[in-house]
Amino acid sequence: MARYLESSCRKCRRYGTKLFLKGDRCASEKCAFEKRKYAPGQHGNTGRRPKVTDFGIHLVEKQKAKFYYGLMERQFERYYVEASSQRKIPTGDRLVQLLELRLDNVIYRLGIAPSRAMSRQIVLHRKVFVNGHYVNIPSYRVKTGDIITFKPELKENIYVKHSMERNVAIPEWLTFDPNSYRAEVTSMPDKANTNAPFNDQLIVEFYSK
Ligand code: SF4
Repeated sequence: MARYLESSCRKCRRYGTKLFLKGDRCASEKCAFEKRKYAPGQHGNTGRRPKVTDFGIHLVEKQKAKFYYGLMERQFERYYVEASSQRKIPTGDRLVQLLELRLDNVIYRLGIAPSRAMSRQIVLHRKVFVNGHYVNIPSYRVKTGDIITFKPELKENIYVKHSMERNVAIPEWLTFDPNSYRAEVTSMPDKANTNAPFNDQLIVEFYSK
């Protein structure tokens, strides 16, 4: 499987925002973006601001969203094509909705994993059931009414225990019982509740050009 080799923290520094790719580290003083708020590389801290073109502004927003959800270029583009092929809700809203409905994102939002990378591992290692059936596809799209449960042994995983201690706020489109590890998708995600560090409108304009 293709993957990006650049370090996660360099992405945050390159695109000028925290993308929360490394779990607990992102909230700690070790966060590279907090320590060095300038672009990576030998010319990153010269004090000179490179001229950013209109194309560059749009590109950065697309890159931020892509890395935030841990996707490759083709995958992300497919989400955009699907979002733009419907007329019921604005394309940007639908794009964020589709991205939020990924199973790996849902597990991250429940607070079971401190990062989307780890929630992806949880799915790939067959620890997740949707409506009673194993699902080991991180991109699996949940829908309203789906019940998500987990293998009992997951509760004993030290990283999961540690992650649960963070008591993250569960988005209002999900419910979660931390005792039984049972979650339900109660409604569709709303862009306003995602705290996404990118501008979806600029992404739509990027692809529309
Ligand atoms: Fe690294 Fe996380 Fe900080 Fe980004 S937010 S620079 S991934 S520690």
